[in-house]
Amino acid sequence: MKFDYDLLVIGAGSGGVRAARMSAQMGAKVAVIESRYLGGTCVNVGCVPKKLFVYASQFSQEFKDSVGFGYTVDKTSDFDWATLRDNKTAEIERLNGVYRGLLDGAGVTIIEGHGEFVSDHEVKVNDEVISAKNILIATGSWPVKASIPGHEHTYTSNEFFYMDQFPSKAIVVGAGYIAVEFAGILNGLGCDTHIVYRGEPVLRGFDDDIRAFVSEELQQAGIQLHYHTTIEKIEKLDSGELVATFNDGSTCQVDAIINATGRKALVEPLNLAAAGVTIAHHGNLDVNEHYQTNVPHIYAVGDVIGRVQLTPVALAEGMYVAHHLFSSTSPRKVNYDLIPTAVFCQPNLGTVGLTERQAIEQYDQVDVFESKFRPMKNTLSGNPQRMFMKLLVDVATDKVIGCHMVGQDAGEIIQGLGVAMQAGATKADFDSTIGIHPTAAEEFVTMRTAARRIGRNESGA
Ligand code: NDP
Repeated sequence: MKFDYDLLVIGAGSGGVRAARMSAQMGAKVAVIESRYLGGTCVNVGCVPKKLFVYASQFSQEFKDSVGFGYTVDKTSDFDWATLRDNKTAEIERLNGVYRGLLDGAGVTIIEGHGEFVSDHEVKVNDEVISAKNILIATGSWPVKASIPGHEHTYTSNEFFYMDQFPSKAIVVGAGYIAVEFAGILNGLGCDTHIVYRGEPVLRGFDDDIRAFVSEELQQAGIQLHYHTTIEKIEKLDSGELVATFNDGSTCQVDAIINATGRKALVEPLNLAAAGVTIAHHGNLDVNEHYQTNVPHIYAVGDVIGRVQLTPVALAEGMYVAHHLFSSTSPRKVNYDLIPTAVFCQPNLGTVGLTERQAIEQYDQVDVFESKFRPMKNTLSGNPQRMFMKLLVDVATDKVIGCHMVGQDAGEIIQGLGVAMQAGATKADFDSTIGIHPTAAEEFVTMRTAARRIGRNESGA
């Protein structure tokens, strides 16, 4: 059978674009179908606009801090949401153009429209049926809303970036990556911000000490944390304000409620049944080590396979598929161990490797090194924000098995330490590295005495 394309990619997000470009550069005839925006969640309603908003939100503290350094600040509160929102949107549109240029430059055909399978080799888009020898599903994920009465009045991350009005008081529901990042943005931009979380403390899955520290810092920054709290219903007043009723019966009146309660694989609109691709019970697509679904010439990468919902992981998976299909050399497997990650809450959190809880499940003896301090910049400013750094070391091998940080530029610092840990760095390697003075990062190479030694199955968390 003759096909229109060697590879048809559904979804022009991080993983899809990378796979399409690499495949085309290796000589394959490639098309990518996209129904919304080039660049996917990360570029349009995720990492990129989020980071721009984080930068914006940090100025209010910077203005306050500058006074201790001799500046006179007349106005710190004159913030115009429309300027930020629209400048952000212009930058995103520029990036959409960059993505278009990259795909065009690589010779990838861009097809704008909604794609759905009509057979295992055919996808219908804009009433046209396109055939391909191989198909890659890279449709990403979509925010999930808790189904409570009145949920239609709430935002998700998708709408947050385009709000007409900036709220003066808001609730963020959830306490994962998106919730704490958005809460920091709202708070920094002057909104009275409330996190409503069904558990305690924030950021389940991260190291427990780090979670506790982040919680303290969020509160110190003025964010109100409502733990063990759920919203039972939401009512919209004639004024446009929303009244949330909590599980204890109390109410909270706000201008906006933002759901940050997770994301689920975007598979429903694809008509996967026509291709014979099965959806796993958890809603994601199951793939093998080559990212093949149960139909071997249909591949899937990124959020839709639900392994690790991070852009750099989707990029690595997309690259693997391109090499697997079209390169003569064998592709490099995606290394899911030691994935460094950052949460851009304020202060930032950066982490790579095991949490203390995971370490004591896997190792007989673990030394815990930690340091809490006030960074130099905060001395003259009087800013009470602190830093926390933590290293976990396997006593038997001296290998550093976990590295965590909360503080300014944590993401920048942890990236380098991720390389060290990939290379198998020991605590002795850290100790023999000369620090860069004066920095906060030098603390990682000067922590000499373990705060405690913990053992397998002991609760040191
Ligand atoms: P997360 O899974 O990180 O967090 C979801 C939060 O919502 C949790 O606190 C969870 O509680 C809570 N929750 C889930 N369901 C309900 C419910 N029905 N009612 C009330 N609360 C609920 O998802 P996010 O939406 O924050 O982010 C999605 C993914 O996007 C992340 O996992 C991450 O991989 C990625 N991301 C990465 C970023 C980065 O790299 N900086 C930034 C933003 C997103 P509980 O803890 O009890 O389950």
